[in-house]
Amino acid sequence: MAMKGVLRPGHVQLRVLDMDASLSHYVDRMGLIKTDQDAQGRVYLKGWDEHDWFSVVLRPADEPGMDFMGFKVDSAATLNELEQKLKDFGCKVERIPAGELNHCGERVRFDSPTGHLFELYADKDYHGNSVGVMNPHPYPEDIKGMKVHRFDHCLLYGDDLDGSVKLFTDVLGFSETEKVMAGPDGQLKIGSFLTCGMKAHDLAIIRHGEKGKLHHASFLLRSWEEVLHAADIMGRYKIPIDIGPTRHGITRGRTIYFFDPSGNRNETFCDSYDWYPDHETITWTEDELGGAIFYHDQALNERFLTVVT
Ligand code: FE
Repeated sequence: MAMKGVLRPGHVQLRVLDMDASLSHYVDRMGLIKTDQDAQGRVYLKGWDEHDWFSVVLRPADEPGMDFMGFKVDSAATLNELEQKLKDFGCKVERIPAGELNHCGERVRFDSPTGHLFELYADKDYHGNSVGVMNPHPYPEDIKGMKVHRFDHCLLYGDDLDGSVKLFTDVLGFSETEKVMAGPDGQLKIGSFLTCGMKAHDLAIIRHGEKGKLHHASFLLRSWEEVLHAADIMGRYKIPIDIGPTRHGITRGRTIYFFDPSGNRNETFCDSYDWYPDHETITWTEDELGGAIFYHDQALNERFLTVVT
């Protein structure tokens, strides 16, 4: 499959209350690498196997949450084309100049029916991963803590789920890989899992009373052993775990949820399946929701469902 249009999640900007504590968490414990900081006090991070300059930006703030999530597109021409389509859809669209985020080209920022801010961009400075491209070793020796490979996806909560699904599928060309249906006749969509590539999700959105909330920002590991190792790090450093290690029915991911020092939920996970755009969307029904979310327990966890930032 040729990768065209929107390529992948490229960055997320998270609000944090205490930068020193946050860097201890994201760098020393999770294993992200600090690549820059700017005059606003924002700190730029990347996973060891990411090639662009950053994928996570931490911004000092008074309350936690997500400022925006950015997706990389294949070219400046695509950026222009999608900018017009977003305007036609009715989004409030803003061009942000190159360099407003260090190492990042022009960004097209837009709002969404669920009240989140997203961005598209075509250019970001190339940093290279930690093993290079000349006779590389399979992994670097000096990565800390949980050794996360890369930023993977966000799960967001907001009110007009149907509107945001329409935006991502009709305008930006995402596929809906999985959906959760509820209500008396099973016709109310309460969750949607969306991909721009071959993953089970690059973005997930859950129907929720408030606009613009973050449920979690997720980071990829490559094996169940690595997930258990991440859990050991959480135990060793008393990082508050929300739930796990366990498995999701939805996406098949094997996962742990935990909190950063500001109360933002993080996930480390492995596994899933390959998505091709000719697959049919998977449907989960309300009566199977327990197993859809936590496959082992087959039961929901109130904190997991209700705590957002
Ligand atoms: Fe997730």
